[in-house]
This record gives sequence, structure tokens and C-alpha cells, in this order.
Amino acid sequence: MKNIFKRAAKGAHVPHLKNTSDVATVDMPLPSKIVLSMQQHIGAPAQPVVEKGDEVCVGSLVGKEGGFVSAPIYSGVSGTVTDVREMLTSNGGKATCVEITPDGKQTVDPAIAPPMINTYEEFTAAVRASGLVGLGGAGFPTSVKLTLKNFDTVDTLVINGAECEPYITADNREFLEHPEDIMSGIAAVQKWCQIKNVIIGIEANKPEAIKTMSSLCAGQSSVTVKELPSVYPQGAEKILIESCTGREVPRGGLPSDAGCIVMNVGSIAFLARYLATGMPLTARRLTVDGDLIADKKNVNVIIGTPIQEVIDFCGGATGEIGEIIMGGPMMGLSVMDPSVSTLKQNNAILVMSREKATLPEANACIHCGRCIEACPMGLSPVMAAKAYRLEKVEELDKLMVDLCMDCGCCTFVCPAKRPVSGTMKLAKAMQKKGAKK
Ligand code: SF4
Ligand code: SF4
Repeated sequence: MKNIFKRAAKGAHVPHLKNTSDVATVDMPLPSKIVLSMQQHIGAPAQPVVEKGDEVCVGSLVGKEGGFVSAPIYSGVSGTVTDVREMLTSNGGKATCVEITPDGKQTVDPAIAPPMINTYEEFTAAVRASGLVGLGGAGFPTSVKLTLKNFDTVDTLVINGAECEPYITADNREFLEHPEDIMSGIAAVQKWCQIKNVIIGIEANKPEAIKTMSSLCAGQSSVTVKELPSVYPQGAEKILIESCTGREVPRGGLPSDAGCIVMNVGSIAFLARYLATGMPLTARRLTVDGDLIADKKNVNVIIGTPIQEVIDFCGGATGEIGEIIMGGPMMGLSVMDPSVSTLKQNNAILVMSREKATLPEANACIHCGRCIEACPMGLSPVMAAKAYRLEKVEELDKLMVDLCMDCGCCTFVCPAKRPVSGTMKLAKAMQKKGAKK
């Protein structure tokens, strides 16, 4: 069944709350320890290559990739490995983690050197060795994304600078602080993956970023900037592709089925820095915000830093905390314990009051259809909820609930305050289970 709608025309007008757009990134001092989860990406967990008592440097390998869809993990501090065991992580699960106590010297691993690249295979190997995963929140290993069956399958690189979730401004700061790195990363991917066109998609609520990138792209026929409407979830991969190229990713398909690769702006800028220096992914920019954060800012944080230490660096909370969210308020994850550590794909820490975090009481559905109007995937959450209640798996399949991307637009617009996207999650699980029978 083909979807006959314009995905990009839908969505929700969520508040922007980009409080830190104009706040330049600051480096956080060394934390008391870092805890590196071996499961910081989609795919197989990394395998620890260090033991308790080992000494490591900045950029030392700590976990090697556990398969093709995986990524290596590196230390962002020099110091001593003080623990290797299963621990709770910020995405709510448990994983093998490596704890390192810094020695304060920040000695760089002597093996760090820019990669030598003469072929496409050497390029993808270098991307793999960099430890890069999608820094916009997805955590998909970049080397897998850039491994093409043949160069004819993809003609367009879409740079995701939409940053459509409220509060988060980490990508906006990348545009303003390191635009040359972005252009250099684009040039590398264009060259080695033989990409004809590049479109940098930026939401209209980032005028400075649009201006900066447009001026750098002037005179480059193959790289253009596309101003996107500020409608959530403009940065969702399928929506972004449609907004930037007019192409639709088919049901169950990948961006490459629409001839595209999508890379987050932070990822492409990091890639340029890695190719120039050989320093793998050990730190990243986080937006620290929320109604309770005393000093809202963008912070360059060593990956694995305890969340509580990042919050303390930003002045701590000004009241009783209701919820800490890793990522944005629409699709982020609630953090149960602030002593857990940051992961590669975490782009924000939001500290919310009880008042902001408490969900309103749900009322009966009034069949207003707003959830249908808002769904960017053209789904009918209200009908899916009924089919779920009646356990009609075939109906769920017809309603294409597998296309739901958990964006939360339906919940956001529902006047009855129903947990619509939560029901969609359950419906998807029921459809999947039914499909396996
Ligand atoms: S938006 Fe809420 S009240 Fe309206 S149809 Fe959807 S679930 Fe029902
Ligand atoms: S959460 Fe799913 S059903 Fe709800 S609006 Fe987003 S894609 Fe549509």
C-alpha cells in the first residue's frame, strides 16, 4: 500500500525554546571519572580491550567494535581503568561499562595520527576506526551508513541541521562555530562516496546558521542550503529527505532507497576533524537546559561524564527535580539516576520541574481527528488505538503502524491529553509479534 500524503506538510508546532542559541560552547573541566558503556550505538555492543588497573591515554581504544553494525569506543581522558563490569546506562538498560579515573595529565595516545586514505575502502575503514555514530541522537554507526553497495545507488547527501526538538541548540552552535569543518566533512564524503548533490537542511528558526552556510556554499553548484519550515519533526530522517529532495522513502525502506545518505551536522563536522587529526570520538557538545537549570548553556563534554557532574557544572537545579531527560522533550529518554554517564549520541540534558514533567490526566477520546491531521507519517493513531484494544493484528498492519517513528506529535496535539504515541508503541509491538507468528 502506498502512502498518499505529503509527510513534510504535517507535524506539530511545538514551542522552540532555543534559549541557548546565542550561547557559545564552553569546555567542561575534567570529571571525577568517566564511565564508558560498550553499548553506545545501534548494533552489536563493543568488546572491552582493557582490564582493571590498565593505564590509558586520551584517544586510547577501550572497546573494539563487536561486528559490522557496531562502533569502537575510546577514552577521552588519560588515567587508570578502575572498573570493568555491567552497570546501568543512561538509556535505561544495563551494559558492560569501563570506568576510568583521570590522572589530570590528559596525555594523548602516541598512536594518534591522521588516517592515510587513498581508496574508498580506506575511507570507510577510517570512518569505522573514528568511532563515529549518528550524533543527532540516533547512534547509528556512520561507517555502515557510508558503506555503499555501488556508487549508483546514492546521489544525494542530506545534512541534517533541522534540530527540530525544543531546547536543543547543539547543532546550531556547530554551524556557527565550525562551519569550515562542516564544509570539509561534506567534501570528504562527496569525494570518496562519489556523491553528486549535497543539501544542507536547516530550520527557518536558525537564521544565522542559514546565512553562514549559504555564504560558504555560494559558488558551489553541488552544495546548497535548504531553509526548512520550523515544524516538528522536520529533522526525522524520512521527513527531512522529503522536505529536501521531494523523494519518499518507501515503507520498510532506507534513505538509500530514495538515493540519499543523511548525516547529522555534528557528525559531518567531527568527521572532518578526525580526518585532519586522527583523534577519535571522545567528546561532544551537549545543550544543558530545562526550566530548573541555573546556567543554561552548550557544553563540550567528555563522553562518559556522569550526568550529575554536567548538571553541577551548569549551576545545578534551582528546585525539586521532576525529570531529567537525555535528548529533547519529544523523543528523549527519561533518566532514572543522574549518576549514570553520557553517551556518544546524547545531544542534550534537560532538567525539568515536577510541574513541567507531570503529564495531565487523560480524558476520553472525543474523535476530533487532530492526531490524524498532525501525524507526519499519515497514520491514524485513533484507529490504531481501537485495533490495538481489540487485538486486531491484521488491521494494525493495514493501518501501517510500523511506520510510526515515535515522534509524539499525536500526543502533543490531543485535546483529551491521551497518551496516543504510547499506545502506538504498544500497537507496533503487537503488530510485530503478530507478524512473526
Ligand atoms: S487527538 Fe485525541 S481526542 Fe482527538 S481523535 Fe486523536 S486521540 Fe481522540
Ligand atoms: S508518534 Fe507515530 S502515530 Fe504519533 S504522530 Fe508520530 S508517527 Fe504519527
